[in-house]
Amino acid sequence: MNYFFGEEDGKDGRNKKVRYNRYQLLRVTPRTMIQVDDVLSLRDDYDGLMYWTQPAKNRSADILVPPNFVRDVKEFMHMRGLEFVVLFKDIQKAIAQQNPRMTRDQRIELRNTKGHEMTFKRYHRYLDMLKYLEFLSTKYPELVDMITIGKSSLGLPLKVIKISTGLRTQKGDIKPAVWIDGGMHAREWISPAVVMYTIKQLVENFNVNKKIVEGADWYILPVANPDGYEYTHTIDRLWRKTRSNHESDEAARTISSYLFGQPCRGVDMNRNWNFHWGETGASDDPCQETYAGPRPFSEPEARAISDFIMDRKDRIKLYLTMHAYSQMWLVPWGYTNKKSKDFEDLLNMGRKAVEALSRVSGTQYKLGHSTQLLYPASGGSDDWAKGAAGIKYAYTVELRDDGTYGFLLPASEIMPTGRETFAAIKAIAKAIVCKN
Ligand SMILES: [Zn+2]
Repeated sequence: MNYFFGEEDGKDGRNKKVRYNRYQLLRVTPRTMIQVDDVLSLRDDYDGLMYWTQPAKNRSADILVPPNFVRDVKEFMHMRGLEFVVLFKDIQKAIAQQNPRMTRDQRIELRNTKGHEMTFKRYHRYLDMLKYLEFLSTKYPELVDMITIGKSSLGLPLKVIKISTGLRTQKGDIKPAVWIDGGMHAREWISPAVVMYTIKQLVENFNVNKKIVEGADWYILPVANPDGYEYTHTIDRLWRKTRSNHESDEAARTISSYLFGQPCRGVDMNRNWNFHWGETGASDDPCQETYAGPRPFSEPEARAISDFIMDRKDRIKLYLTMHAYSQMWLVPWGYTNKKSKDFEDLLNMGRKAVEALSRVSGTQYKLGHSTQLLYPASGGSDDWAKGAAGIKYAYTVELRDDGTYGFLLPASEIMPTGRETFAAIKAIAKAIVCKN
């Protein structure tokens, strides 16, 4: 089973950067259920295979294979008659090329001309994003408030930006609210980038987007898992979970977590929510990428978001959580094949979003039931938002791309992804919260 991925670099034992030299990304498309099982069985035979997407019948799975297993894995696929292509021969090269560096001079120039360093031409560190949010709250104090809703396991602040022109409409009614979060999964860099782009549009492009900004209060958390996000910038580009340490927790102790001399860290934040927690599609092994945690809301990040949303649950009419990749607009439930009673309503609203999205540059999204388009996964935030907080319109959005680069989507795609996604958000917000 996968206890760790990649190879550690450096000698001093601290801040070792994980490298993926000559790791190959294979795309395999099983055509029968037996072939699906074949693809899944690979992970039991080869340590360190990383499934970027999960296999299903007639739907491809992208699997990252360490160099020492590449030959065997390909041979196995040939033997079983599995169709596959090599997407990347050396994933480390894609990692190295994904994010263009900025020179000190460029940074200084940006600060001098714009007042901040946010560019949307590269993936920024957490601090850069916070500075941009602070810049907005200083420049637009009548529109923007910053709210610290809690702290991550390692003590980073969780900052929600509130964009509002006032609690009440001109008629005197209390306005509805919208919640958007990004960055629950650390390596899905396009998600915080797109959420930041959304914030920019709502605030700095207020005149164009007046109707939706005035129609609702917007609560937006660009990086829900800042510990993990920073870790992907500094140590391991492909880290997914939080960075919590539940070593002292009885419920987190399994034999496997001690096999390598140290307990595995982190919880899959999108399996940690207290609604059908720990059921299908979530692991109880701390070393797995889909570890649900020792108990629901063991992660302070998920707990903080849930407390914040619960306090406003009657006003929040739309819950959006941004993930990557696959280009899908997913409708709950994620924990079961059953559909919610109002599934058709959610589908119809979702259709407005994906149609608006594709009108921008032709990008096609699949729209549908979570478990049908993906696989059952319990403890997800959208299920919780709908099932526990009672927010009718709750969606998980899987952003670009459809697998050409996967998690390593080049920074040059931030702007086009931001533009089309914002069109989708605008369309669905108009339909749900700005009806009048
Ligand atoms: Zn995700």
